[in-house]
Amino acid sequence: MGATPAILSLDQGTTGTTAMVVSRDGRVLGRAYSEFTQHFPQGGWVEHDAQEIQEVTIRVARGALEEARNLEPHRVQGIGITNQRETIVVWDRETGRPVHRAIVWQDRRTASICRELKKGGHEQEVRERTGLLLDPYFSGTKLTWLFREKPELRRRAEAGELACGTIDSWLIHCLTGGAVHATDPTNASRTLLYDLHRHAWSPEMAGILEVPERLLPEVRPSSGDFGVALGEHLGVEAPIGGVAGDQQAALFGQGCWKEGLAKNTYGTGAFLLLHTGQDPVMSEHGLLTTVACDAQGKTAYALEGSIFVAGAAIQWLRDQLGILAEAPDSEAMARSLEGNAGVYFVPAFVGLGAPHWDPEVRGALFGLTRGTADTHLVRAALEAMAYSTEDVLRAQEADSEVEARELRADGGAAENDWLMQFQADLLGIPVRRPALVETTALGAAGLAGLHTGLWSSGEEFLAAQGEPRIFRPHMSEAQRTRLRTGWRRAVDAARAFTASETGD
Ligand code: ADP
Repeated sequence: MGATPAILSLDQGTTGTTAMVVSRDGRVLGRAYSEFTQHFPQGGWVEHDAQEIQEVTIRVARGALEEARNLEPHRVQGIGITNQRETIVVWDRETGRPVHRAIVWQDRRTASICRELKKGGHEQEVRERTGLLLDPYFSGTKLTWLFREKPELRRRAEAGELACGTIDSWLIHCLTGGAVHATDPTNASRTLLYDLHRHAWSPEMAGILEVPERLLPEVRPSSGDFGVALGEHLGVEAPIGGVAGDQQAALFGQGCWKEGLAKNTYGTGAFLLLHTGQDPVMSEHGLLTTVACDAQGKTAYALEGSIFVAGAAIQWLRDQLGILAEAPDSEAMARSLEGNAGVYFVPAFVGLGAPHWDPEVRGALFGLTRGTADTHLVRAALEAMAYSTEDVLRAQEADSEVEARELRADGGAAENDWLMQFQADLLGIPVRRPALVETTALGAAGLAGLHTGLWSSGEEFLAAQGEPRIFRPHMSEAQRTRLRTGWRRAVDAARAFTASETGD
């Protein structure tokens, strides 16, 4: 028997990198994960050492390949890369070394630059050109900050001596030995520098953000040619054939390739993306417009809404209140109750994201009585994930004028069957959970496998993934309305409390 053809998928996340070796029939032949160092040089600042990210990524890739080799003989036909989005690296073209630590998406140091740009009247133009908001989250103002702080780097950037990119570009640069400086449209669309309509870097945005255009990588199709990873790094030489930002890779991995298909990743926070087809939809409800992939990995669009606190509310109940030992215990606790007994939990620890965008509001619990028990709090935290998801999905439907017919779920908290059933009940549509919830890594493998011919179509890739589990709605409309009304009143009350606190 010949060697099994496979794809090596690299999922470079915020706290660690996962490597997976995936075969044509969807089996994971090898897997490895490692965390790396988080740097917090000042309050609100978050940095990564790009060199360490390179080393950790190569180490886990080699680990996954070795595990796969021990399982069965295989041949790496291609490499897929997916990554934490918006984090930005600047490096020296000559030495290939970073000139500064990577500034991470979570970093808030550019809040004042964002305020300055808003005052300068740029908000509308930013929205129209990039689909994004002026928020420190995105990469662009991180570069503005760097070049304002370090004029020497600006001079070198203008002279063409430096290169920049999101983590995908950095890894492509490292793995190809500096031969390729490229990114894909999904990552480019998170920088504030990419024109959504022209499918190219925006000279206007580069001007506004004071970013020398010579720094920027070439934008290539997500399922396409990103050069060859050298054997000296991974022990095997293989083409890099797929690249996408983590949420877009998950959207692709879930088979959401067409208008009206949506996925939600229930992790620490939650990210809900609705595919809107071939045209960008501008939001009236606080959502972002972002690039996604179609079934061939070509450019399409999605509306994105983020929920800042999802599984983190369960973590809080576990670590701060100590009312459960492990996050999965939440399932039996919620199930032990007939109903929520009127208890609602708005876990707005860091404000509310889409569609409310209220940074000042803080968390609140409502409806407590002497009979309220730990189980009620846990159930209310799980219910909050489902209500917040519904709020974003309804905003997406209103913006796109498309009704979602199904929600595809992944991420750590999607393992919770009670939550999945409650979500289906609340939305009144089926919730579909794939056999393997690591859809981010799978999505990157899919994009690379399509380019290198491991799968001949998106459908063939999806069919290899095993049977999903479908949770169908059973709840009555009256019950749904009662629950939604309770949640809405709780959110309004939490916001009203903040407004009175700040004297608004
Ligand atoms: P991330 O990628 O954001 O680190 P994961 O996808 O690994 O997150 O999911 C971890 C989060 O999901 C944690 O916040 C945890 O509290 C929550 N979680 C994990 N398992 C369950 C479960 N069975 N039920 C509810 N929440 C869970």
